[in-house]
Amino acid sequence: MSESKSNPQQNGQTYQAWQVSEQDGGYRGCETTLSTADLPAGEVLIRVSHSSLNYKDALSASGNKGVTRQFPHTPGIDAAGEVVELAAGAPAGVLGVGSQVLVTGYDLGMNTSGGFGEYICVPAAWCIAMPEGWMAKTAMTYGTAGLTAGLSVHKLLTMGASPAQGKVAVSGASGAVGSVAVEILSVLGFDVVAISGKTEQEDTLRTLGASEILGREALELQKKPMLKPVFANAVDTVGGAPLAELLKQVKPGGSVSCCGLVAGIELPTSVLPFILRGVNLLGVDSVEIPLADKQAIWDKLAGPWRCLQTEKSARVIGRNDLASALEAFLAAKSSGKIVLQHGLN
Ligand code: NDP
Repeated sequence: MSESKSNPQQNGQTYQAWQVSEQDGGYRGCETTLSTADLPAGEVLIRVSHSSLNYKDALSASGNKGVTRQFPHTPGIDAAGEVVELAAGAPAGVLGVGSQVLVTGYDLGMNTSGGFGEYICVPAAWCIAMPEGWMAKTAMTYGTAGLTAGLSVHKLLTMGASPAQGKVAVSGASGAVGSVAVEILSVLGFDVVAISGKTEQEDTLRTLGASEILGREALELQKKPMLKPVFANAVDTVGGAPLAELLKQVKPGGSVSCCGLVAGIELPTSVLPFILRGVNLLGVDSVEIPLADKQAIWDKLAGPWRCLQTEKSARVIGRNDLASALEAFLAAKSSGKIVLQHGLN
């Protein structure tokens, strides 16, 4: 492959991918041989060595049309690997052939073939140079989930959140986003209360730095319009009724960053937390934000916010284990970070 082709993938290199197709009214992923000639036209052809598992991948793999409209499709909203070809006119810079890059979000893995295949072809504007000293596997230990956790914490910090204000809660704490948020906040010196439905994850959450673990019942729907304010700030990864209950328990002037919907997209709240306590609800989008904003968080994750426990405890799987790992996401049985390594099996 050369650097000067106008269509990077036109030479047609075969590769392996975990491709999802519609079968008997359902959706099933399986090992498939594909050609780079069939990848969507893009500026940068990347040989993917690692991807990362996310709740959105599980939605795509199960045929959720809100995520992926057309099948067969290769999911994987995260990818890291080596640039093998650039289209003529593509902005080179840090993206020269042979450089290590990572891609998260935008349309990757949704309606653009994603990181569960050994090659992707994407616009240069989606690619981030691998942070100094990091390997593809390290970056994918964080993936979109880690980026989202970083953005959630960043939002709290921009509102002036500090350890001196008191406890910070993290809901869905054992999940991919939640677990990284627990560790980042702990690294920053916060007193972290992890809220989790998995009692068996208590030791892990403490290892990540949580000082207190509460069961999900702490956020069960209650009739009272407001509750005792116990949390200075919070990172919510579940949405729905638990988020509404969390808002009732935040101290005056506190902030809650919100990124997820596993507990539902409806938010059954009143205006009271906002007008009686001045609570701030901060939305987090890790997908469509400018590349420079993503880069700033990646630099923090590779620097002062580095999560060594998350890196140590991440589970590495091959494509053969994708189906069961993605099912666990949908059944809310997944925990921690899972990295996909191509070539493992
Ligand atoms: P995971 O499945 O890894 O984690 C979600 C966690 O939420 C579970 O592990 C569980 O944790 C908890 N949970 C699951 N179901 C329920 C429920 N019904 N009620 C309360 N808690 C529940 O997913 P991710 O961490 O990857 O993603 C979390 C959310 O964030 C998803 O909705 C995802 O779509 C969203 N997201 C949004 C992004 C953005 O840019 N806005 C980017 C990335 C993710 P426990 O057992 O510990 O309670």
